[in-house]
Amino acid sequence: MNPMPGDTKPYRVGRSHTGLGLFATAPIRKHTLIVEYSGPRIPTPVAHARERAGRSKYMFEISARWTIDGAGRDNMGRYANHACRPNAESVLIRGKIFLKAIRRILPGEEITYDYGREYVALFFKSGCRCAACRDK
Ligand SMILES: [Zn+2]
Repeated sequence: MNPMPGDTKPYRVGRSHTGLGLFATAPIRKHTLIVEYSGPRIPTPVAHARERAGRSKYMFEISARWTIDGAGRDNMGRYANHACRPNAESVLIRGKIFLKAIRRILPGEEITYDYGREYVALFFKSGCRCAACRDK
């Protein structure tokens, strides 16, 4: 674990091809915990019901019991977009979700992670629009 020193945030929210995205503002070393995907815990069956009703796209399932509802605007993690060839991954540490760099990320690069097949199937009705998929 290499958390960023102090309160320095190595990212900002900016315009991406699909709306908003999270962009590196400083070099981020491989294995750095970049940002928490934060929000209240709700029971996973409740999260599933809300997702099926189309009422939330920011549910992050921790287990069959608990899901993080990441819809709050103070959850910076929600701005990270999906990519099929991402530069970060989600990790669960003591019940909290973090995005962690899986390689070195340079300033200006968009920070992305793989949302998983279920999410892509449920929410990307017209297919994935990440950089790798758009280049196909
Ligand atoms: Zn893709």
